[in-house]
Amino acid sequence: MGPNVTIREKIMRILLESKSALSARELAEIVGLDPATAEKQIYEHLKHITKTLRRKYGRRAVLYMIPPRCKNCGYEFRDLSEPRRPSRCPKCRSQRIEPPRFYVSIE
Ligand SMILES: [Zn+2]
Repeated sequence: MGPNVTIREKIMRILLESKSALSARELAEIVGLDPATAEKQIYEHLKHITKTLRRKYGRRAVLYMIPPRCKNCGYEFRDLSEPRRPSRCPKCRSQRIEPPRFYVSIE
């Protein structure tokens, strides 16, 4: 990856090449951002990557999100309209939330 490659392009390439699903913090770390502060920024990039993939690959490449999950009761946040890490479980109120993870499936 050359220096002219944007963060967003880097994230997209990482997802295209990765064999496992990655969280926003993991993606931040790989592209050289601080995982503690860049999480929201990564979610924003992921929203755009969905559109970029559609434009470049049509339906052959799709970005999937493994939904966040409550570590306390197992509740899964299946109805999220966009990628984010919920702060609290609606069922048990726990704040121990496993963040969403992302992968790209390409034909
Ligand atoms: Zn819970």
